[in-house]
Amino acid sequence: MNRSMTKREFLKCCATSFCVLSSSYLLGYPKTSEAQTPRKGLIKTKLSPYFTSLSGGKIQCELCPRRCRVSKGKRGFCRVRENREGKYYSLVYGNPCAVHLDPIEKKPFFHLIPSTTSFSLATAGCNFQCKFCQNWEISQSSPEDVYSVEISPDEAVTKAKEVGARSIAYTYVEPTIFYEYMLDVGLLAKKAGLLNVCHSNGYINPIPLRNLCKVLDAANIDLKGFTETFYRELCDGELNPVLETLKTLKKEKVHLEITNL
Ligand code: SF4
Repeated sequence: MNRSMTKREFLKCCATSFCVLSSSYLLGYPKTSEAQTPRKGLIKTKLSPYFTSLSGGKIQCELCPRRCRVSKGKRGFCRVRENREGKYYSLVYGNPCAVHLDPIEKKPFFHLIPSTTSFSLATAGCNFQCKFCQNWEISQSSPEDVYSVEISPDEAVTKAKEVGARSIAYTYVEPTIFYEYMLDVGLLAKKAGLLNVCHSNGYINPIPLRNLCKVLDAANIDLKGFTETFYRELCDGELNPVLETLKTLKKEKVHLEITNL
């Protein structure tokens, strides 16, 4: 039976095709190694360094201010971290669902290596639920529900160099949720002479942030509003930790730009 698409279905279809086609294109770029076909169901795990064990096998995640308390077999709010037998794991260590070569101005950075390109990575998931999110198809999905490819930190840096990028960007969703991947790519990128830049909602705890600052050259933080009510009602988040992140980045001398749309 013929059925016309709703507007939401149409937009979802277009966005998914764009991500997948773009991934295929970049990974199949003539100068890179073998192309991969993006596929659903990919999970790549890594033990999180930021959790506290609680009684009964529960854990508390210490990565972002949400501090999810998660029972065995369950996942945190961001959908990409899972309690496996009392230990907390990232499920997105090396399985990005968006891989693009973007102008640095699209990140957006306007005062950092202008007219260069940035090798841009994202996985599924997010620690906010903004009602106006433009990347909701991936930010509000679990890793097994999106098309993704396998790219180790080493391969990410090699590909970035092959396509002539001057930086690697952690972007499109909140990169805090793929922290372990971002950090390991970042360490190798730094050694290879690439800059590390992120576009973030700033919702991260101070200890992991300060550790990340060791490899982070630049951050563009979304300051989405100026009241706690705005953050609570439209993002399911909080303003104050974002303001603290801005201060920490400044103190750690990371190049900082702010987006307020
Ligand atoms: S990173 Fe994810 S699991 Fe951890 S506290 Fe934040 S939302 Fe919860």
